Amino acid sequence: MRLLPAPAGSGIVFRRTDLDNFEIPANGRNVAKVSYATSLMRQGVLISTTEHLLSALIGMGVDNVIIELDNLELPILDGSALPYVQAFLNTGIRTQRRRRETIRVLRPVEVREGNKFIGVYPGSGYSIEYTIEFPAPIGRQHASVDLAAETYGELIAAARTFGYKADEQRLRDMGLIRGANADNAIILGARGPENGPLRFVDEYVRHKVLDLIGDLALAGRRIEGHVVAERAGHAMHTALVSRLLKDRSAWELAHVPVEASATENSGEDRLPSAGLSTAVLAGA
Ligand SMILES: [Zn+2]
Repeated sequence: MRLLPAPAGSGIVFRRTDLDNFEIPANGRNVAKVSYATSLMRQGVLISTTEHLLSALIGMGVDNVIIELDNLELPILDGSALPYVQAFLNTGIRTQRRRRETIRVLRPVEVREGNKFIGVYPGSGYSIEYTIEFPAPIGRQHASVDLAAETYGELIAAARTFGYKADEQRLRDMGLIRGANADNAIILGARGPENGPLRFVDEYVRHKVLDLIGDLALAGRRIEGHVVAERAGHAMHTALVSRLLKDRSAWELAHVPVEASATENSGEDRLPSAGLSTAVLAGA
């Protein structure tokens, strides 16, 4: 996998180098139906497990990039978005002249399914509240994150995906997971993580926030609003994207003030709110 800089206004676009550079823009029109991870499909061409890279891009304030892939699956790496964030910081992120275009939420949009819930509300910046409730040993966890506050790299990126050991064989039999192991996921036994220690005491809910940011990237532009999720998952996240995009009275395209995106620097001290493009980096 390789990331290339892209012109302002082009958004996040995947490119299959093994299929004549076939391009699949990361937007709601190309979401494929799956439950365990988020995938994109256009004209029968699939790209799977997009959420962690998309999360890192949005979290670090990257709006425009081309992602070259030579197969259908993104690397799982360590199960978090940290390796991507480190790679962006090493390579640098370039501020572009054009102002960032956001989807500014004007009215609430909600999706409810049984006791699962997700909604997006008007608000300045981009903030997320997530509540999860899983069987022991996870239980109930709650996280509240304001992405405008340069928090992604420190508080969210390192949170790893997780799975119950009891589910592992069943999922494998269904062909839903390939090679989930102690190097790329928290494996949960009855008493807790079998490959601990955790990176955060509430690593599970932080990872759900990470996934949510990646899935909402499929709105095609950064969201300006407040998101609340309870017991949601990829299917609920992408359902919210579809419902939001369909309801044209619920949002408008807005432009962040030019002052906010004019920061000229690359690397660690950059504001994630700026409108930016990445330079090349070599991936796994
Ligand atoms: Zn995930």
